[in-house]
Amino acid sequence: MNYTTRELKKHKRIALVAHDHMKEELLKWSKERLESLKLHHLYATGTTGSMLSKELSLPITCLFSGPMGGDQQLGAKISEGEIDVLIFFWDPMNATPHDPDVKALLRLGAVWNIPVATNISTADFIMDSLHINGTYHTRIPDYQRYLAERVK
Ligand code: PGA
Repeated sequence: MNYTTRELKKHKRIALVAHDHMKEELLKWSKERLESLKLHHLYATGTTGSMLSKELSLPITCLFSGPMGGDQQLGAKISEGEIDVLIFFWDPMNATPHDPDVKALLRLGAVWNIPVATNISTADFIMDSLHINGTYHTRIPDYQRYLAERVK
């Protein structure tokens, strides 16, 4: 794979997602991190986003609910370079009907090399990182070269 760089701006586009049994945890964490989160552009799957914007009066772009396609919408945004950070409290103790979508979302986070937190401690590390409020140059796959090599 060939790589190129992408500049992540000072104000990040952060996606927040929590499975049903993890929503209280994300709400509590977001309350604690409210002032930092306000500095960024927030996205979320439908139920998570509606809950957070109602409880915390945070402006959030809400996509569809996860089981109805929201995880796939987020995955597409990651591929298109529209999401910089994913905070995704998925549920390790309960099965979900949209497990393939969850897996696909996590996979695209890895493909496009964005910071992904799947638990509170990693989310804390991300929010406390030097890079969260500054510009950062990240390495991403060079899609044009990838395509050129496949279509000769
Ligand atoms: P929800 O979706 O925010 O609509 O609950 C999250 C998910 O299940 O992936």
